[in-house]
Amino acid sequence: MHLDWLIVGGGIHGTFLSNYLLNRKGVERDKIAVLDNQREPLANWLQQTDAVAMKYLRSPVEHNLDLGSQALRKWAHDERIPDTELYSKFDRPSLRSFNSHSQALIERNQLEELRVFGEAKIITRDKGKNQDRYLIKTEEREFLASNVIICTGQANKLAIPDWALDWTAKDKELRASAEPNQTRHDHCQVVHLFDKRYQQVSRDLNNKEIVIIGGGISGAQAAIAIAERQPGKVVLLHREPLQTYQFDADPCWLSTRCLGLLRQARSPLHRRRIVEGARHKGSFPQDIANQLQTAVKEGKLRCVLGQVERLDGETNMSDRGMLKLTDGTHLPCHLVVLATGFAESTGASDFVRKTMRALDLKETPCGIPHIDYYLRAAKGLFVSGPLAELELGPAARNIVGARIAAERICQIGRSKKPHPKEYNYFFMASRRIN
Ligand SMILES: Cc1cc2nc3c(=O)[nH]c(=O)nc-3n(C[C@H](O)[C@H](O)[C@H](O)COP(=O)(O)OP(=O)(O)OC[C@H]3O[C@@H](n4cnc5c(N)ncnc54)[C@H](O)[C@@H]3O)c2cc1C
Repeated sequence: MHLDWLIVGGGIHGTFLSNYLLNRKGVERDKIAVLDNQREPLANWLQQTDAVAMKYLRSPVEHNLDLGSQALRKWAHDERIPDTELYSKFDRPSLRSFNSHSQALIERNQLEELRVFGEAKIITRDKGKNQDRYLIKTEEREFLASNVIICTGQANKLAIPDWALDWTAKDKELRASAEPNQTRHDHCQVVHLFDKRYQQVSRDLNNKEIVIIGGGISGAQAAIAIAERQPGKVVLLHREPLQTYQFDADPCWLSTRCLGLLRQARSPLHRRRIVEGARHKGSFPQDIANQLQTAVKEGKLRCVLGQVERLDGETNMSDRGMLKLTDGTHLPCHLVVLATGFAESTGASDFVRKTMRALDLKETPCGIPHIDYYLRAAKGLFVSGPLAELELGPAARNIVGARIAAERICQIGRSKKPHPKEYNYFFMASRRIN
């Protein structure tokens, strides 16, 4: 298969980019494909937002998957979606309306037809006559493409603390050594919120004592939702004081004001520090803070500031575990839910690392490809999402990051000078703040 464009990763970014290339750039349907290792479009998004029981997006309605920023608002109006589906003065869409709109967009533009199932293992150069083309390999197939966009998200490696790894190993040993006729006591389970097993585990919470670890938006939302089902049985354990911010970074990061500062920093390490510093890590908007406060007041939920040292079995005969905190206190638990995010937040997956080596790409000290203004790691090879952060700042990994990436990538050949397109995104987010 020889393509003009191959997009690796068909999540939020890959789906947006495929629609953009098709309908804005006029790429022919049979010249573009989206390679994804999951069957359904937006699979990670759907799984992760469902796990945290998210009701409203954190981002405003303008950050949607269609080409026009007002598309979701217009769709909601045409479909007579009630106003309550757009929340707060920032018009944050409900997850339900965002997902329905995305689904309608995928169907209308027949974006599923572009998808090919498979996991990209490596990208090399075509050894044939045309050395400009890329060869993309999966276990079963090969693709040739003149242009490739890598948007594989956060490398799907979940952050699991060492004490949780120790516990899982110990738990396995205990199970293996149990006598066949011995009554088996299920020990305290530890599961990551974004692990596919979580859905199954969370079905049966009956009377369990549950500790959720992580004070960011995912942990807070999950804690509120679980506390509704198991009032009085839930603890949210956070190691930093809880913080309230409307967005995960200042909206200035959607304007040339902040992005200009980022561009002035020449060294990638300096840029990485700026991007990390700009992110309001472990924070959530005021409405979530209010819900958390109400749940605490009503006795449904406890918030505990502390850090885990280790997890022990309570006694041999008990199905509870004991989380020992570094201050010496203990928390009993039947289930520990890790809302600790991703281990490799820069997007440097094995596939990306192998590709960098095979193509001899220039690498930044944080282990990702060095890119230019057009998000180009080499001629015809682009990135979007976390891999684009050193050019696009903290919003690179968000929904709006896909829109900015698409415009940058497609700007090649049109204008020699980078033009300050980002002003539009600032307008989108800041209009209602002022
Ligand atoms: C719970 C949660 C809530 C969020 N809420 C918001 C919000 O309100 N607003 C906002 O702007 N952002 C939000 N985000 C951030 C961001 O928009 C999402 O994480 C989004 O899913 C990122 O899209 P992506 O395409 O980069 O990654 P993903 O959605 O993870 O898609 C990447 C795809 O690539 C596939 N893939 C990976 N490696 C390979 C390979 N080697 N070969 C083939 N396929 C591969 C993956 O399986 C996946 O399908 C949220 C994130 C989370 C986790």
